[in-house]
Amino acid sequence: MKQTLWPLTRFTSLVLTAVFMSTLSAQPRVIETATHRFVEAQDGVWLGTGSGSVYTMSNVMVLVGKNDTLVVDSHVTPTAARALLDALPALTDKPIRYLVNSHYHFDHAHGNQAFPVGVEIIGHEYTRQKLNGEAGDVLEENTFRSFSDPVALTVANLERLAAAETNLDRRSRLLERLKVQREYLAAIAEVRPTPPHITLTNKMTLFQSIDGGNREIQLLHFGRAHTGGDVVIFLPQEKVAFTGDMMLPGLPYMGDGHVDEWPDSLEGLKSLEFDYWLPGHGPIMESKEPIVKLQDFLRDLWLKTGRFYREGVSWGEAALQIDMTNHRANFPQIGEAGVDPRAVRRMYQLLDQRR
Ligand SMILES: [Zn+2]
Repeated sequence: MKQTLWPLTRFTSLVLTAVFMSTLSAQPRVIETATHRFVEAQDGVWLGTGSGSVYTMSNVMVLVGKNDTLVVDSHVTPTAARALLDALPALTDKPIRYLVNSHYHFDHAHGNQAFPVGVEIIGHEYTRQKLNGEAGDVLEENTFRSFSDPVALTVANLERLAAAETNLDRRSRLLERLKVQREYLAAIAEVRPTPPHITLTNKMTLFQSIDGGNREIQLLHFGRAHTGGDVVIFLPQEKVAFTGDMMLPGLPYMGDGHVDEWPDSLEGLKSLEFDYWLPGHGPIMESKEPIVKLQDFLRDLWLKTGRFYREGVSWGEAALQIDMTNHRANFPQIGEAGVDPRAVRRMYQLLDQRR
């Protein structure tokens, strides 16, 4: 089954890449540093991804103006954020004025503390409450722990694999991954959640000086979705949106989500006029079609989970049984029946609250 599907999938992605490259500005500028790869979607609008030499985990957007720079998201640790700060001079000599957090999750906001004093951090009111401890300790929550606790095990596994590997090439690749994961493990210990100093609830607009005028930067909250405080960064003139994890090329993590409200919030995103969207993870995207596909998935998931809940099935058992394979054509990562138990546990919490 896999073998017959693979060439088709591969072909599709090649075609998509070709279409994409033809409509993105003729030859987008790409700047690579030791730790990052930056693609210029529009003049002064950069999407940054990690090169793998440092564990960054998420994308960043960098908006370069005439006098200053605005950065969206700060990566997963202070170490990763410092690598970003070291890489930025390859793009611009303008100082950073603002850092915007698309949401509070560790992989987007745990680099906040590494930004220089004087940089204003902007985020949703909810993001502030999560990062200043008002709404619980993010370092003790399931989301952070479920991703971070296994890192020590990953390091141990890589050590074992590298020691047993006799092929020199494969061994050096394992050692490189081991180095990155060891540094990541050490970096986690340094994290001190650092909240935004400036907050918004629904909308904030910034104007950044650029050659010949201003760049309008809209920070928009369309309602609860991936978290209680997702912010979309929208540039109406450049027609670009940075979606954070509210909208990804594949299925986003739902462990802190509001699956019931998420499709409506996506309606707000869909209403914007943009040519590209830059997700919190993954490549630059164009089509709005994936938004509809995610809305369909979320509505269906909420419905199916609700049925198990009302039948009195435990969340753990429901996670094994919920069958979303009817969405496999839209989300190839779906294998057999069963969904992320963290998503189901979260939906059960929301359903409990409604009682
Ligand atoms: Zn997230």
